Amino acid sequence: MSIVKFSNVEKSFGPHKIFNGINLEIMPREVVVVIGPSGSGKSTLLRCINALESIEGGDIRVDGFSVKGGRNDIRNIRLEAGMVFQQFNLFPQMTALENVMFGPMRVRKATRREARELALALLEKVGLSERANHYPAELSGGQQQRVAIARALAIRPKLMLFDEPTSALDPELRQEVLKVMQTLAEEGMTMVIVTHEIEFARKAGTRLLFMEGGKIVHDGKPNELLLSPPSERLRDFLQHVV
Ligand code: ADP
Ligand code: MG
Repeated sequence: MSIVKFSNVEKSFGPHKIFNGINLEIMPREVVVVIGPSGSGKSTLLRCINALESIEGGDIRVDGFSVKGGRNDIRNIRLEAGMVFQQFNLFPQMTALENVMFGPMRVRKATRREARELALALLEKVGLSERANHYPAELSGGQQQRVAIARALAIRPKLMLFDEPTSALDPELRQEVLKVMQTLAEEGMTMVIVTHEIEFARKAGTRLLFMEGGKIVHDGKPNELLLSPPSERLRDFLQHVV
């Protein structure tokens, strides 16, 4: 029933062991917010889910497909897990519309017309109908990130992964991105979100993970962990991010 399942996952970079047996199960419709100090393994955790990083031990299954299952499984995992990065990563030579049309045409074998219809609907969903024909350089950071979200949604993922989606944005542009994410959460999208936006974690998250040193140190309800942090480390961390 789980959509993501880590079983005893081990991950190293060269001689450095990052994960020494991570276990984690995420159910459909969960909105999992991941917090923790820099270098604690948050990005690596996300990148392992869609096989952007390989693992040496254990297994990760996404909707039943294994990151160790070979090309076909990995292809399926990437179709099921949309990813949004801190640095938007839009194709600069393509308009907003073309960026969003790219995935469906390339990997879902949609016709140009189908892809265009879907892309227009998704740009409307993220509030950017008016900007469909603009190039990334003509858009604000918040607008670019909303295009990136629409682009990830266009492959019709079952799961969305966000790695610090608002960290590169000026504070006044963050809310427009968080609002789109909040709407997705309300619609029941399963999401794993690395962020320092504690208020968002409280409002939109159904589950909060606190990572440190490659371990999931706390795993619980956002309200409970944030209102009464069970460790000195979490209390200390929260004082520094808010
Ligand atoms: P976070 O996202 O929490 O800041 P990361 O997952 O990026 O942490 O990094 C976890 C650890 O793995 C850090 O010690 C980092 O230096 C190391 N690391 C991450 N990516 C690489 C890489 N490509 N090569 C070597 N070490 C890496
Ligand atoms: Mg990171």
